Amino acid sequence: MEIKDLLKMQKSFDRYLASKVLETQDMKSIVQWDRDILDKKLLALSAEVGELANATKCFKYWSEQGPESTERIHDEFADVLHMLLSVANSLNMKPEDIEHAYIKKHSENYKRQAEGY
Ligand SMILES: [Mg+2]
Repeated sequence: MEIKDLLKMQKSFDRYLASKVLETQDMKSIVQWDRDILDKKLLALSAEVGELANATKCFKYWSEQGPESTERIHDEFADVLHMLLSVANSLNMKPEDIEHAYIKKHSENYKRQAEGY
């Protein structure tokens, strides 16, 4: 499965959700609503990252409990990915935009490390 497939699946779900919330099949309204809730999607993304951190318990230096199950951690990771893909769709990012931005940043990160960033 490729990024384009994931973006398409997420767009389909987001439009299904919008049609339920708005109680309409009007695509213009659905697309506008999706753009209008970008701030909420970014907050949801942040919340899902927190849930992933909670599942790993990576920051809980005060706790002697280990991480939750691998299945639970993967489930939270999937929640993060869902929200990230939803944000990408709201920003109208195409698969090639995501790949280009990722490769550019990846290269920049290596350069920063080489330069003592
Ligand atoms: Mg979650």
